[in-house]
Amino acid sequence: MTVRIDRSRCNGCGKMKEPGCAAVCPGDLLYRDSSGKCAIRDPRDCWDCAACVKECPRQAIEMYLPVQIGGRGSTLKARTGKDKIIWRLTKPDGSEEIFEICTKKER
Ligand code: SF4
Ligand code: SF4
Repeated sequence: MTVRIDRSRCNGCGKMKEPGCAAVCPGDLLYRDSSGKCAIRDPRDCWDCAACVKECPRQAIEMYLPVQIGGRGSTLKARTGKDKIIWRLTKPDGSEEIFEICTKKER
């Protein structure tokens, strides 16, 4: 498994010194390339932590899932809000499932 970067959605995180996805990747796999878009060094080194998927403000990164979870070619995207993450699972037949996870901390 690995991630796929939709370069038509990625804006390279604008003027940020380091793109958000690159900052959170524990494997230092992501970087802004010469065209100003995000790229991955070696997809085989990705360990599917999904940190970059959650971090991207433009939903430009999706993660491929194991065949056992959604079927071959299923992908996962995320939209991270202040108190929740909305996960979107897209199956090979194009159908989708949405999971909303509350991230609000209890006091
Ligand atoms: S966080 Fe998203 S928009 Fe920013 S560089 Fe990475 S893929 Fe592109
Ligand atoms: S899923 Fe994790 S290891 Fe893979 S590219 Fe994204 S942040 Fe890096």
